[in-house]
This record gives sequence, C-alpha cells and structure tokens, in this order.
Amino acid sequence: MEQELQSLETEARQNLQSLDDKSLLEDFRVRFLGRKGKFSTIMRQLGTVPAEDRPRVGQLANSIKAEIEKLFEAKQQLLEASPDGSRSHTGPDLTLPGRYPAPGKLHPISQVMNETCAIFENLGFSVAEGPDIELDYYNFEALNIPAHHPARDMHDTFYVSDSVLLRTHTSPMQARIMEAQQPPLRVIAPGKVYRCDSDITHTPMFHQVEGFLVDKNVSFADLKGVLTVFTQKMFKKDLPLRFRPSFFPFTEPSAEVDIACVMCDGAGCRVCKKTGWLEILGSGMIDPEVFKMVGYDPEVYSGFAFGLGIERIAMLKYGIDDIRLFYENDQRFLAQF
Ligand SMILES: [Zn+2]
Repeated sequence: MEQELQSLETEARQNLQSLDDKSLLEDFRVRFLGRKGKFSTIMRQLGTVPAEDRPRVGQLANSIKAEIEKLFEAKQQLLEASPDGSRSHTGPDLTLPGRYPAPGKLHPISQVMNETCAIFENLGFSVAEGPDIELDYYNFEALNIPAHHPARDMHDTFYVSDSVLLRTHTSPMQARIMEAQQPPLRVIAPGKVYRCDSDITHTPMFHQVEGFLVDKNVSFADLKGVLTVFTQKMFKKDLPLRFRPSFFPFTEPSAEVDIACVMCDGAGCRVCKKTGWLEILGSGMIDPEVFKMVGYDPEVYSGFAFGLGIERIAMLKYGIDDIRLFYENDQRFLAQF
C-alpha cells in the first residue's frame, strides 16, 4: 500500500505538470482527490494493513494527500491568473521594450575623406572629381611620365587596354583641370585609385586626395604652410613637419613629407619604427614640363602639388594597424567610429 501511495504521488505530479488548461482542473481533482478518486480507493485498503503499521501508513497517506493538494492549488492559481486560462503565451507581448533599428554611420574612410575635403575647402580650395577609368595620357604622359619611363614601374598599373587604365593616382585631375582652366587655381581632387598590390599596408583599391595650387610667385613655403594647417586640423595637434628630398616625375623639386609620430609625439615607438617620424604624403613644386603640356608659361606661373593617402591618414588618426580592416565590413570594427 505504501508503494501504491508513492506511485500515486508520482502520477499526480506528472499529470499536473502537463496540465495546461483551466477546464481540465476539475477533471484532475475528481480523478485524484474526489470521493471515488484514486486516493480514496487506495485509502480503503487501510483496514487490511497490520495494526502496528497502520499509524505509519496513515501518516504517509496524509502527507502525500497534502502534497498533491498543494500542487493542485498552485496550478489552479497559475492557470486562473492567465487571461485565456492557457499557460502558453502566443502572440506578441506588448509590455516588452521595442527593438530599435541600429542607425547607420559613415565608413571611417568616408569620414576622414570628408574631413580632409572640409579642411582644404576652408583654405579656399575647390573640389573636383574625375573618372576612375582614365586614359594613359592623363595618368602618365601629361604628368611627364612618357612611355617606357622607369617611374611607371612604381605604379603596378591595372591596364584596361593599351591606352586605358584604372588610374593609379588622383593626379590626372591636375592635368585635366589645368588643360581646361587658367590660373590662379586652388583645387583638390579626392577619389579612388587602383594598384596591383595587397598586404597589411596596401590594398588594390584605396583613396587619395590630390591637391594643387597654381599662381604667380607660389613658393615651397606656401606648400609647407598649407600642409602644416592640414596636419594640425586633422590630428588636432601641433605636429612638426619634415620634408625629405624625393623624386616624382611631375614635381621638381619633390619631397616626401613626414609628421612627428602621432602615437609617441616624436619620442620613438613601434608605429614609427623608433624614428619619431611618420611619412604621410608626397609633394613638390609642379614641374615646368607639366605646365608646358597644358600651355601655361612656366616663367610666369609656379605651383605646388601634393597627394595624400586617406587610408594612411585614417590608420594614423585612429591607431589602426591593418589596412584590410577597412574593407572587411565587420560591424564590430565599423561601429567604433
Ligand atoms: Zn612613434
């Protein structure tokens, strides 16, 4: 009889657990706890239990009955509390907070590009855009890089045909604009450029801003002044500039421009390879040969030009060590800017 009582408790528990409708409560009550229910049926055998065991069995029976009643009442309360008498909530829960759409942001490259353009616009430069698919003439020849010139090897060019290519720099806009307009000119040309090159500091497509200024009596000091203002505004620091002699076919003299390392302020660190300087752009005074090609008199006009890589600036500005992160479109990376 003790075994029967215990298996009755187990059965009642399982029944209650799967019970999920208010209308089935009464059925359960009758079946297990009613006068003719399972519990009463077992209790009728109490007379057959030996007299010395009777108190113990009686106690067990009472505690099991009390337990089943307790579980039954808990279940009853739960089902009464839900409006449709059902425990399973289908349909929307209107009390939950709403889901907000994640707002989009400008890509870090676009942000730095926009910022760069804004700085030069404030200095009186106008913005010009040109074609990504360019003629060999504007990409090379008009910039004093004739066919078979060794400088062409520096560019790892993607050719579309013999005379058409993906521009390797934004400098073709210099030739296009000078051909179409007379000085004074103050222009920047932002855009995508393409080179067959890929590693942690190079991607086959990247962004450049070409800038140039042509007028009477333009000197190297003007170039230095413009670039100093640019680096101060971009990095929000007063960083010393350093010009290193270099070679570009379309400028003479030419210089690579370094800024004091933005990470260590010139003290020397891993980013600047302990030198305290970071190369940020190429520049120079526009070569008289380039002026002759577009019909300007090099005896009257002079000018400077510079080209800077937007990815390079963005990497320095935000302390990013792998250029490829910009193009993997990982939301966790992009959301930080
Ligand atoms: Zn450093």
